[in-house]
Amino acid sequence: MRAEALTHTGLIRPDNEDAFLVDVEKGVLAVADGMGGHQAGEVASFLALKALSERLKEGVANDPLAELQAAVRFANEIVYRSACLRPELSGMGTTLTVAWVVGSQAFLAHVGDSRAYLFRDGHLEALTCDHSYVGELVRSGGLSAEEARFHPQRNILTRALGTEADVIVDTRVVGLKTGDLLLLCTDGLLEVVKDEEIAEILTLNRELQKAVQSLVTLALERGGPDNITVVLGAYE
Ligand code: MN
Repeated sequence: MRAEALTHTGLIRPDNEDAFLVDVEKGVLAVADGMGGHQAGEVASFLALKALSERLKEGVANDPLAELQAAVRFANEIVYRSACLRPELSGMGTTLTVAWVVGSQAFLAHVGDSRAYLFRDGHLEALTCDHSYVGELVRSGGLSAEEARFHPQRNILTRALGTEADVIVDTRVVGLKTGDLLLLCTDGLLEVVKDEEIAEILTLNRELQKAVQSLVTLALERGGPDNITVVLGAYE
């Protein structure tokens, strides 16, 4: 696997509370979008990825999905405990979306409203469901995907990592084919760039670095209202 990643503060926010993890050797790709006042969001996303990386560094034993799920729950515990110990971090949390490529399969774990996509044969498919108020409205048919992008309550999460003692983790396994791309990104990209535009950029930019740069640049051209993080992995 090859991978490229880029994160940008954007043009409005004072700090970057997003973080990413790319470990090509271990096949781990992840993004996290932290939240909480006074830099607590930065701490949450950092701690979550550090904990995840520590748990996955031994490599896979026998059951990647169970091990990944345990690693995400461990990350939850680390963020939650840190928030309980330090009053200035109280209430912090983060999204966490992970793809762990083992053999010819991608094992996915997900909490929050960042996303993972599979780009195959020119077609972009979302692999995760947003754990957000508007995401649930879209799934129940009460709101279109386009309306959700501009909804005033689009930032309300229904599930986050580190805000409670334990967390329910969505998991999924995807069989990979040569040439597949795995895209992980935070809502700072999705708020201003449509899926069709992402697909077009991935089609036009065969080099990973250029594709990642183009996605971030487009989000900035659209005002960069939030931190933007993009991780792109190619299975070969
Ligand atoms: Mn965000």
